[in-house]
Amino acid sequence: MRLILANPRGFCAGVYMAIDVVDQLLDILEGEPIYVYHEIVHNLHVVNRFKNLGVTFVEDIADVPENSIIVFSAHGVSPAVREAAAGRNLTTIDATCPLVTKVHAEAIRYAKRGWQILLVGHHDHQEIIGTRGEAPDSIQVVDSVDSIASLNVDDPAKLIYLTQTTLSMDDASTIIDALKKEFPGINSPPSEDICYATTNRQRAVRVLAPECDVVLVVGSRNSSNSLRLTEIAEATGTTAFLIDDVEELSAAMVKNAESVLVTAGASAPEDLVQSLILRLIQDHGGVIEQHDIFHESVEFGLPGTLKKFMRTRDIDPEGRRITMDDMASTNRFLDDHGIPYSVVDLTVSAAG
Ligand code: SF4
Repeated sequence: MRLILANPRGFCAGVYMAIDVVDQLLDILEGEPIYVYHEIVHNLHVVNRFKNLGVTFVEDIADVPENSIIVFSAHGVSPAVREAAAGRNLTTIDATCPLVTKVHAEAIRYAKRGWQILLVGHHDHQEIIGTRGEAPDSIQVVDSVDSIASLNVDDPAKLIYLTQTTLSMDDASTIIDALKKEFPGINSPPSEDICYATTNRQRAVRVLAPECDVVLVVGSRNSSNSLRLTEIAEATGTTAFLIDDVEELSAAMVKNAESVLVTAGASAPEDLVQSLILRLIQDHGGVIEQHDIFHESVEFGLPGTLKKFMRTRDIDPEGRRITMDDMASTNRFLDDHGIPYSVVDLTVSAAG
């Protein structure tokens, strides 16, 4: 079997940062309760690891005892959630990805100017709920081409679309093209809202999937970007499966496959990918090729709210850095297991 590993895959800078926030708090608080509003990132294993370490996840601020510490997830929250937290005198640590915050800022800015905002995304996704909450009277969510017919637009000259950060680029383009047809004067966001990590992982799958018999995407079913990777692989004509971990791999998934592409959503930990690689090599033999499509260098520091909190505990935040080394950790893993691999440099740009 030819096992192709898509680079980049897995954790993005925002997910690293959000997970690191909770890990740092666990270290600092030494047993004090930690609450997280919504899943810190959409991955079962990440959430279960934190639950096992004593972290409590809530979907309603009313479930958090007054004066507690609450972390907002990477997906961001609406002002109503922030107000509810303030009302319970909670100490809030904001792990919202800066690229989500950017979309919030755009929504606030255009709503203040009196513009209407068409927010392309999935109604029930946490990120859309948070962004829409910034200006609910000015924002309408567009989740399909069909939903455009029911939009209420007062002045087409004061209209802008924004998007969820983790959409399929193809799906978003289809909806945006339809919006431009319906409202020729609609404005585009000042900069691309679909984030670098989503874009790079999708492009890697689009390049690599056609030459493979099967695509395995490691990620959870509530992870938007993992679902999109699976759909994109299928759109290239290659059978694709979304699996949470190696335990969900079945022999039937890779039956008769001569080449298998492995990738992972932006919230899927690399150790899950490593376990999958090991199982595939043990059961089927073959060669591993790491195909580099993009080299990423985006990193986010600790959020300001966490740094401020650390200082209240006499901890210097400067000494605490986030380390991103997924790809290097997999190379070490393969070396440790005596599994040879080659690297194929297909880098098309240094995007992100
Ligand atoms: S997928 Fe993009 S927007 Fe979401 S956390 Fe990662 S970098 Fe941020």
